[in-house]
Amino acid sequence: MFSKTFKEEYYPQIQSLLEQKTRVDSSSIKKILKKDNLNLNDINNLIQSYPNQESRNLIIKTAAQKREKLWKNRLFLVPPLYVTDKCANDCLYCPWRKSNKTQRRSLTTQELKKEMNFLIDTGYNTIQLVGASDPSFSADKIAEYIKIAKEKLKDKKGHIGINFESTDEKDYKLFINSGLDFASLWQETYHPKTFKKMHPKSRKSNFDYRLDAFDRAFRSGLKKVGIAFLGRLYDWKFELLSLIAHGTYLKQKYKIDPFIIGTPRLINTDKIKINNPSNFSDDEWLFAVSILKLAFPRSLPWFSTRASFNLNKKAAQGGGALFTLDCSTAVGGYTIKKDFPQFPVYSKSLDKGIKWLKQQGYKPEFHLPY
Ligand code: SF4
Repeated sequence: MFSKTFKEEYYPQIQSLLEQKTRVDSSSIKKILKKDNLNLNDINNLIQSYPNQESRNLIIKTAAQKREKLWKNRLFLVPPLYVTDKCANDCLYCPWRKSNKTQRRSLTTQELKKEMNFLIDTGYNTIQLVGASDPSFSADKIAEYIKIAKEKLKDKKGHIGINFESTDEKDYKLFINSGLDFASLWQETYHPKTFKKMHPKSRKSNFDYRLDAFDRAFRSGLKKVGIAFLGRLYDWKFELLSLIAHGTYLKQKYKIDPFIIGTPRLINTDKIKINNPSNFSDDEWLFAVSILKLAFPRSLPWFSTRASFNLNKKAAQGGGALFTLDCSTAVGGYTIKKDFPQFPVYSKSLDKGIKWLKQQGYKPEFHLPY
């Protein structure tokens, strides 16, 4: 299981790499960039070259060129559909945390159908259902929602993903049998002490159980998973190395690349404020995303509407990414009520967004690439 490998091998290795503060010259960076497979040492050398403008630009440019060769500027449009904001957890960085006593909402099956119809009529073929850790959403209920959503997409041969709390193999099997195509689950932070601090006692506070989510998902037969950390909770260099270690472990053990790599960063709002969030500037984020693109050429980074369109446009260079245009992070936010979103987003209508993407040289598509 990944929790064991992470604790015994990767965590000490990553700590030691970061302590060394290695600086390699630009000719060594060029050699690393010629490799097809990068190990953690290579990744660390790329990361540590961040202060060197020449190396940094070269890494970003090479990542874009390699993507363009493989993906030819194709982008895959996927919106989220939020089904419940009632939560049993108390994550400090989230307005939907249990201790935030605000009126909450979850979609009935009729409301789910209404939201699905809206997104399908808009033109989408792939939709990700997102839910807080709502105690009333049993595995059977989640399976029912997956089934309804998949049925709605039947004529388009569309795909359904989820971003729900981690669960066991039996539940993942039930979800697959109900039509699930992919499951995303963000680790939030790979740093054990920060994880503990951010997740006061609740189901989600089990760091190891969350680390092992994809072992359980793959053992249940799922082939497509989405991994990520939430930027700004802890040092991005540590998180990036850990995320790549996680993807590498899955690739080596199950012979499957992460399907999706999320790229979220914490946004402080009037509803939620984390004191002294870790630095993860736009430039650092663009650089980190380029390293992810190099580390997993076949994986799809997800450029969501947490970042501005201009920033996402730069990050997606070369293509081979999921991209969100229309977006609401409120439960029922497309057709019912837009209040109480999980976080603020940028949003473009699908028509305008597609036109804009084409003007930038991208080829937006509605079906997943594989
Ligand atoms: S991040 Fe997810 S699990 Fe945590 S409080 Fe928010 S909705 Fe609940």
